[in-house]
Amino acid sequence: MNFKIEKKLANTLGRVGILSTPHGDILTPAFVTVGTKATVKSLTPEAVSGAGAQVVLANTYHLFLQPGDEVVAKAGGLGKFMNWSGPTMTDSGGFQVFSLGAAYGKDISKVVKITDPSLMIPERFDDSDAPRLAKIGNDGVSFKSHLDGSIHYITPEKSIQIQHNLGADIIFAFDECTSPAEEIKYQEEALSRTHAWAKRSLEEHIKLEEAKNFLPPLRQGEDRGGVLNQHPLPTSPLAKGEEKFPQALFGIVQGGREEDLRKKSAQIISEMEVDGKKFDGFGIGGSFAKEDMATAVKWCNEILPEEKPRHLLGIGEPEDLFMGIENGVDLFDCVIPTRLGRNGTIYTKTGKISITNTKFREDFTPIEADCECYTCKNYTKAYIAHLFHGKEMLAGTLASTHNLHFIVSLVANIRQSILDDKFEEFKDEFLNMYKA
Ligand SMILES: [Zn+2]
Repeated sequence: MNFKIEKKLANTLGRVGILSTPHGDILTPAFVTVGTKATVKSLTPEAVSGAGAQVVLANTYHLFLQPGDEVVAKAGGLGKFMNWSGPTMTDSGGFQVFSLGAAYGKDISKVVKITDPSLMIPERFDDSDAPRLAKIGNDGVSFKSHLDGSIHYITPEKSIQIQHNLGADIIFAFDECTSPAEEIKYQEEALSRTHAWAKRSLEEHIKLEEAKNFLPPLRQGEDRGGVLNQHPLPTSPLAKGEEKFPQALFGIVQGGREEDLRKKSAQIISEMEVDGKKFDGFGIGGSFAKEDMATAVKWCNEILPEEKPRHLLGIGEPEDLFMGIENGVDLFDCVIPTRLGRNGTIYTKTGKISITNTKFREDFTPIEADCECYTCKNYTKAYIAHLFHGKEMLAGTLASTHNLHFIVSLVANIRQSILDDKFEEFKDEFLNMYKA
């Protein structure tokens, strides 16, 4: 992986860059499309790339349970398995620790309630079918599968092993994402755990890569299982230009709403080093109160090394994209465009609309006349409304296609505006028209 900054946004932390992965370049800032279970819900890979998406992010926890990371490895890795030829990423599964941990507590019997509705929880994965039981310990997290009730234990090492099997271009360290409603003492404990887990993730990553690099060549007919066959073997010493680490590992910064914890975390994660190897990039994790998201992101990005990419995990509403980009974020992911699409909520330049509203029943115009997406070029609001009323499968597909295109293009347009020295104008124009 290589990251090159093309241009900086004056007087801010913002930048435009190119992130090169073994499966192609990502022009940053970029919106990463979420395909939790190795599929972007209701969309074919052709529709996903047709909407302009450059990179897909799948979830480690879900693929570990079903179909199993070894199955994905045997298929030739995540991209090949799902027929997506572009760059891929996997989350560490740490977010599930949060969604389960916050809901079910450190102790199974303790339920922590989030009482303040202004505390925003990132929209990262579709966890409607999340398990009913999880317990966080210093070594890892045990949980009960929502599929068959089986008990599993995920440690940082296990998360990295699974992510090596899944074989995405960019993978993440295992972390604990705390609720902002947690008391400070718990935030501190969780942060120490996240840092210890980051170190163990990095150690495991290096160990697995070293093992791959020093294996003798495969004899004809020999099979070591999918995981070892995804990357060229063996290569020691490495040929010129060859990547010793085909998978890039990002460390995750946590620390909730606390300035000192965020800064401490950014410092520790950016300096963390094992055998001369540091993290290739960074995730900024956690849930934020909407009003202090910008400051939390800024605290992190002022400390994180400028030359490495940063991914703001689980954030992707239009106004947040501007905020993130100005504050030095290169990558975003969010389930929002497709989740809203499936529910009939559609993005437009003036704000979201509910397509099932009676006023669209006989509206034979596209969602947006100047939109270049497949849906707007071919279908009317009346037809899409009809599909939703009739509970037709195509409804979610058409709405998700437009929404994904809307968000992906917005980020691409912000990128272009920085290149053209028109960021402020573009931002004002967009946000004046867009009513959230
Ligand atoms: Zn459209």
